[in-house]
Amino acid sequence: MAFVGAVGIEFAAEIKHNHPQLRTTLIHSRAKVLSSEPLLDLVKDRAKLILEEEGVEVILENRATIYPATNGKSLVKLADGTKILADAVLDTTKKGDSSARGILPAEFLDKNGELRTTRSLAFPAETPNVERHFAAGDVVAFDGIKRAGGAMVMGQIAANNLWVELLKEEREESGQMEEDKEIPQLAVIPDYPVVIGLAVGKQCLTYDGTAERWGEQLMKDYFQDDLGWQGSLKYLGLTDKVERTGEKEVNVAVAEVISDIDKSVVAEGVPVAAA
Ligand SMILES: Cc1cc2nc3c(=O)[nH]c(=O)nc-3n(C[C@H](O)[C@H](O)[C@H](O)COP(=O)(O)OP(=O)(O)OC[C@H]3O[C@@H](n4cnc5c(N)ncnc54)[C@H](O)[C@@H]3O)c2cc1C
Repeated sequence: MAFVGAVGIEFAAEIKHNHPQLRTTLIHSRAKVLSSEPLLDLVKDRAKLILEEEGVEVILENRATIYPATNGKSLVKLADGTKILADAVLDTTKKGDSSARGILPAEFLDKNGELRTTRSLAFPAETPNVERHFAAGDVVAFDGIKRAGGAMVMGQIAANNLWVELLKEEREESGQMEEDKEIPQLAVIPDYPVVIGLAVGKQCLTYDGTAERWGEQLMKDYFQDDLGWQGSLKYLGLTDKVERTGEKEVNVAVAEVISDIDKSVVAEGVPVAAA
């Protein structure tokens, strides 16, 4: 059993897909799955339909409370009085357990334990040596769906901005900040379009900001047969098993990186599998 959101959906479907004999139930207190994501209702409804096609039972508008039971099982009591004795319960509702808690000063974090940054991904202004501290990925507080693609774009921006700060410092130290020399600019995070690619058992559901698509072939196109593992390793250059044939990578234009003073630099695209 699992609860809520994209992670709950993917886990529930994955459990059912790999262990079809198990009764797998997804329980959510709201009227729709993915309720906290800024997605159209038609995408949420499609996600529920696919889950059910994959054999996952979906219980909506019913808050669950979990109690320990005998033999390592759990008793799940639903708000409507239903009781379910479960072999295992997976709670995917948790927010606010960011790994930044306990490492970074609490005043740098928002209520979810996520780091407050500027749009150039710099730490809060009160940070000592602030020009040397940039953040990237899920740890950054931002509105929108947290995705690997977004994390990779942020990584590019943070790396760019660290380089800019080092260059500025170097030029200042060497007295080379002449008027006619191009001054490097900090890049800022773009407004992300609301997009999602959900692996739901043997099917995939995508929404690219304009249209939803779903099905088994799409799953193969997006995630191959390993949930995109090899594709991600290849994109990140973390495997030596890649055959370099010289073909161009299939990229989607994920982001435009706009400098603080209105100069545009276009970030590299991120492969479809990572989006
Ligand atoms: C089940 C699931 C399915 C998902 N599916 C998709 C998907 O299909 N598409 C998509 O785009 N996104 C998906 N995501 C979201 C995506 O995984 C994240 O947005 C992305 O991994 C964020 O990258 P990151 O580098 O910021 O963080 P992470 O990938 O979480 O990496 C952070 C790393 O830091 C390490 N770490 C933490 N604390 C410390 C410490 N104190 N010291 C040293 N190391 C530390 C962690 O162990 C981890 O390896 C999914 C997430 C989950 C959980």
